[in-house]
Formats: sequence, structure tokens, C-alpha cells
Amino acid sequence: MKPSRHWTAVFALALLACGTTPASDAVAYVGATVIDGTGRIIANAVIVESGGHIVGIGPRDGVEIPRGATVVAVDGRWIIPGLIDGHAHAGESTVARYLSYGVTAIRHVGGNLDRLTSLSARIAADSVPGPRLYLAGETLTGPPAVWPGQVEIRSPADADSVVARLARAGVSQVKLYTHTTRDQMEAVVARARAFNIPVTAHLGFVDALTAATLGVNALEHLSGVVEATVTDAAPYYAAHARFPEGWMTFLRGWAGLDSSALERTATALAAAGVVLVPTLVQSETYARVLDTAYAGGLDLSGVTPEEREAWNLPDLVRRYGITREDAPRLAESRRKQDLFLRRFVAHGGRVVAGSDSPNQLLAPGASLHEELALLVRAGFTPAEALASATSGAAQLLRADSLGVLRAGAVADFVVLRGNPLEDIRNVGRVETIVARGRTHDPGALRVR
Ligand SMILES: [Zn+2]
Repeated sequence: MKPSRHWTAVFALALLACGTTPASDAVAYVGATVIDGTGRIIANAVIVESGGHIVGIGPRDGVEIPRGATVVAVDGRWIIPGLIDGHAHAGESTVARYLSYGVTAIRHVGGNLDRLTSLSARIAADSVPGPRLYLAGETLTGPPAVWPGQVEIRSPADADSVVARLARAGVSQVKLYTHTTRDQMEAVVARARAFNIPVTAHLGFVDALTAATLGVNALEHLSGVVEATVTDAAPYYAAHARFPEGWMTFLRGWAGLDSSALERTATALAAAGVVLVPTLVQSETYARVLDTAYAGGLDLSGVTPEEREAWNLPDLVRRYGITREDAPRLAESRRKQDLFLRRFVAHGGRVVAGSDSPNQLLAPGASLHEELALLVRAGFTPAEALASATSGAAQLLRADSLGVLRAGAVADFVVLRGNPLEDIRNVGRVETIVARGRTHDPGALRVR
């Protein structure tokens, strides 16, 4: 435990109070309202951290503070589990900023495995501040690859060798992309299953229900839902042969879906047990990229001028063929997505929050806060939205010690200046982040 400058004063006071050098490496956070990630709320709580884990948690009079522990007063604050971004592409230059927004774990869904494995090791060794990374490594797709770095699967033998390589390198999930056919998907799922690794997909040539039935565990961006809902998906599959035509055809397609058909898809997908990572904030970007007020309402303070320039929004608009006429249609698509998600959850479907940052207008960390606000706008309670970025996301990662604040869990939590259950926007009022037991000041992480 290394107290940051932030806590030096408190630390000094604790020393004065004890009159001795602390005999314990434990730190007790005392007086906050704890939202533990399972729905339990503890007023005037104590969290005792030691060696990177939570060793005690509960109401103030029910938890013994070890002799010599450093006591940190957090009266009038709220503490939530560290946030998990369920869909992000963080890298060396952005991980500290994710952490500064309270993101202590990332489900990383596509990137160079060697580089990310090295970054992940340095984060774990505390030489780089950042969230825990749960990697997919290179994204797999049928030919042709859509983005540089993707690996093409041309045959079942390809699927066998590529999945085995990723599995041996220790990936947490295998990610499929839009040009994956049904046969290729079956081969990848079978091979991943042999290694007990979940498969997730951004679908193009396969609809959501078929993918779920084949054993795909999670779906990104609500992909394949339109194709599973329309009576004739052939025009969509034809469009998916080319990127981004397929993506925009899909996004526009939502607007024309009728609610009873969406209800059928929501029921079937919930029953299939597939987890949805909708990344509403990413769809919102395309729906509102021409709305100049949109970017003005986002917290882009953690994005460097060079990164903003690299986003090159006019180029995005041109390449994706987004026109003025798209604005009302894509707004209607967003309403249909929200309706679909409400029905999916009503039927017991599981949703995990993810941002797709740092893609265009998706700021590291801040865009996950934005996703939570969009989930609330879609009809989630703030508690449900929070669960989708904490306990729910941890379940998807199969990471039992994350996402919930309890004795034995890792000490990943965020001290907030406002109650997120009253207003989900309060997740943005980050005072301090505790990651693997170490305290971080958000401002210090952003100026690196
Ligand atoms: Zn992505």
C-alpha cells in the first residue's frame, strides 16, 4: 500500500492519533455509503483493505479495524466496486485514463495479443497504472479481414490452430468479426469450448439467434438482432460483405422493425442465455455525429488534441455515408434498441455495459459513464445500470473476485462525491480510485 499525496494528510493524522508507526499494512475506509454491487447498501460503512484484497466490510460498528491500520475518513461519500468496461480497446497510452474514471477492469475485445500481454503484465506489476485487462487478442473473421491485425479463418483447420494459439497465450475470450460464416463460427466455438474459453461476436453473416444457438456466449453492439428479427435477412447479409455498408444497413434497419417482432427476438435471445453488450454509446455516436451539440455534451476532457484530430469525424461521416436524412431514422433506431433491451431484460436477459472506446467520440472511461446514463435512459434503474458495469460484467468475465465488494474480493473500488443511485451521472464525480489496494488521484492519472 502506497498512499498517494492525496491521502498524506489523513495518513499523518492517523500517525498522530496512534502516536506510533502503523503496525499493520491495512487501510480502513470509514464512513461512506457502500453500494456493494449485489444490491446491498451499507450506510456508514467500513471497508478494510490489506494486501490488495478486502479483508473486512460492513457497518461501522460491525467491523473490527486492525490495530495500527491507516484510517481514511470518507464520510459523506459513496463507494462502488471498480467499474468494468465490458467492451474496450485500451492501449498503452490510454490505460491510465480509464483508471482515472474509475474503470479498474477492461474486457478487451480485440488488439495485438503480444503488445497487450506485455502491457497487462506491467499493469499487474504496478509499473503502469491501469485497469486489469481481460484479453481477446486478435479478432478472428472469415476473409477478407475488415481491419488491420484481424486474423482470417479460412477453414476448420485454421480455426483449430488459431484458437489453440490464443488459448495457450491465456486469452479470456475469443472475438469473432462480421465476415465469420456459420461454418467458421461452429468450428471456432467447438475449439474454444475444448479450452473452456467463451466466444463473443460482432455479427454480420450470422443472425443473433443462430449465433446464440451455436454456443456464442455474448454479442457485441446488438449485432445480428435486426437480422434475427426481419423476415428476409438476405439484403443485410449482402450488405455485410462490405464494411461499413453492412454496419450502416444494420443500424438503419432497427428503425423499421415492429415492436411485436422485436418482442419475439428479445424473448428467444433471453431464453438462449446469450449476454448482450449493447454499446449504446457507440450507436449513439453514429446517430448523432452530425449533431454539433452532441460532442459538446460529452466529457472529452481526457482526450488529447492529437487523439481528437485522429478521430477525423468528417472522414467518418464520408466513409460511413451518413447523411442529414439519417438523423431522424437513426434516432428512431436508437428508440427501437432501447425498447428491445427493456424487453430482453424483462425476459431475464443479461446486459453488460461497454463503450467501444477509444473509437470516435468514445473517450476512455468517460464513455462508459455515458453508456450507464444511456442504459438508464433506456429504462434501467441506476442500480441495474451499475450492476451491468460491476457484478454483471464480472460474471461475463468469469472473474469471481471482481465487481462485488465483500471480504475476499480484490480491493478495486471507487470513492464518489455523489450518490449514483440518485443520479447515475454521479459515477463521474470520482474522488479517489483504489485499484489492487493502491489509491489513485484521478487528476494525477490524467496528466501523465
Ligand atoms: Zn470494439
